Amino acid sequence: MPIPPIPIQGIALTIAALAMLQTTGNLAAAEQEHEQYAAHMHGEAHLLVALEGDLLEIELDSPAMNIVGFEHNPRDPGQEKIIQQAAAQLRQPDRLFTLPASAGCVVEVVELHFPQSETPAAGDAGEDPPDEAHQDIEAHYRYRCATAAQLKQITLNLFNLFPATEAVEAQVISPGGQRQLELTKQRNTLEL
Ligand SMILES: [Zn+2]
Repeated sequence: MPIPPIPIQGIALTIAALAMLQTTGNLAAAEQEHEQYAAHMHGEAHLLVALEGDLLEIELDSPAMNIVGFEHNPRDPGQEKIIQQAAAQLRQPDRLFTLPASAGCVVEVVELHFPQSETPAAGDAGEDPPDEAHQDIEAHYRYRCATAAQLKQITLNLFNLFPATEAVEAQVISPGGQRQLELTKQRNTLEL
């Protein structure tokens, strides 16, 4: 006689997710959590900073409103220019973040997901997302640091580059532990 199916999949997934989150320093889990809970609020951005060994990973997640001032596809050459300039700035982590020179950190990876700057698929040209849609810009940076022990702090220059950014909810994972803090224009340095 066959055993009736048990709807266990959801439970198993929840347990797996909890197990992952309980492993402090597990960057994959932290990234998953980061993306899941990074609520979209204009003026606010989310930052994940993780130092593991000599690798420093930084993930920035911001409403496009903070970066370019609108969340629709560009409608004129002026808006296209704003988007191109913002994308160029986000591809320069050395401008976004100030790290102690003594740590010897070198950028290895820059990944930018900027929906407004991406060429629409053929046939989609000019098509806007629905009016109620919000758009997020995601950026990922990886540094390799020659002397990671010297990486005591990171200063975030986002508030100067993109003044519509009022607050950044930061999650920090380092050998010193895991914690969350809020950065602002006045308090733009985080300790590792
Ligand atoms: Zn929005």
